[in-house]
Amino acid sequence: MGGIVLSLTRMTRILEVDVENRIAVVEPGVINLHLTEHVSQYGLCYAPDPSSQKACTIGGNVAENSGGPHCLAYGVTTNHVLGMEVVMADGSLQWVGGRAREMPGYDLRGIIIGSEGTLAIVTKVIVRLLRQPEAVKTLLAVFRELDQASAAVSGIIAAGIVPAAIEMMDDLCIRAVEPAVNAGYPADAGAVLLVEVEGLSESVEEEQSGFPIANLLHAGDGNLHPSVLFDERKPGDTQKALALGGEILKMCVDAGGVLSGEHGIGLEKQEYMPFMFNDDDLEAMARLKPAFDTRDLLNPAKIFPTGASCNEVAFAGAIARAGAGAWI
Ligand SMILES: Cc1cc2nc3c(=O)[nH]c(=O)nc-3n(C[C@H](O)[C@H](O)[C@H](O)COP(=O)(O)OP(=O)(O)OC[C@H]3O[C@@H](n4cnc5c(N)ncnc54)[C@H](O)[C@@H]3O)c2cc1C
Repeated sequence: MGGIVLSLTRMTRILEVDVENRIAVVEPGVINLHLTEHVSQYGLCYAPDPSSQKACTIGGNVAENSGGPHCLAYGVTTNHVLGMEVVMADGSLQWVGGRAREMPGYDLRGIIIGSEGTLAIVTKVIVRLLRQPEAVKTLLAVFRELDQASAAVSGIIAAGIVPAAIEMMDDLCIRAVEPAVNAGYPADAGAVLLVEVEGLSESVEEEQSGFPIANLLHAGDGNLHPSVLFDERKPGDTQKALALGGEILKMCVDAGGVLSGEHGIGLEKQEYMPFMFNDDDLEAMARLKPAFDTRDLLNPAKIFPTGASCNEVAFAGAIARAGAGAWI
């Protein structure tokens, strides 16, 4: 028997806004931006702001422990979710966490956040709200070289200044974006930073392995989005681009970084988990899953490596491997 696709996109109600305690209770299908738009009437906002916030949901944010430009100053989703109603794999309804900042016992809330839908289905979320900043100023800093922009980010952080956001674009990104949006980015810049006090952004361009790579990144918290530009109609280029993605990830891990700053592991990065974790680490994580989901019903085949080679991790291949009963 095949699997089922469970869609929560119609669970879009904001159930409660407790202005005094700066808390909201929402259903998982609430669009991230809609929550901030709704509570702005009280001078409040919801801090985690993935760049996809016009489309992504609070439930998806919880599953991916999402960040965003302002998470440099305010932290990611787990820092703003107090409690959740969840449906366990056996159908039982549970609450994890609550309205208080600290709860006794194991932090099951923290375990479920970022578990990519593999442990439980989130059906209500209690979130913290923040006061809207009184003033926001955005600065544009232009650099001849990407390295200079990167050094400026490190300098800002080292000086103990924490802007609300620091975003970077490289020259390839600038040249792609400017003709479309006419923001005034200089076409001959090597990189730009946008710093928002409350916030910042920058861009850089580079070419590694025969493919141009455009870089757009949340520079403040070191969260990179290299875009490998390739033509999927050219035989072999998709595989080469995927392999290049793997090399970039390896380089990040070797430099002390992680496999994913915000998008999770899912299917595409699962074979790269051994870059970061040894067998004991992976086994300790894998032992958690049956404690929540004995029959491996929820998002099976995700996160953990299957033993395939990294080049086989093309997205379509991963989906095919997920097999019957998979919830992707
Ligand atoms: C243009 C763009 C920009 C982005 N920028 C950012 C960014 O700045 N920061 C960032 O962190 N991410 C970013 N992302 C990634 C993505 O938008 C986020 O991870 C987002 O949180 C996903 O939410 P969603 O509603 O789209 O989830 P979906 O894609 O629908 O689901 C993601 C996963 O969560 C699971 N899931 C969803 N809802 C639930 C639930 N209620 N209970 C249990 N599991 C659930 C799903 O099964 C799936 O495995 C970006 C994506 C795009 C396309």
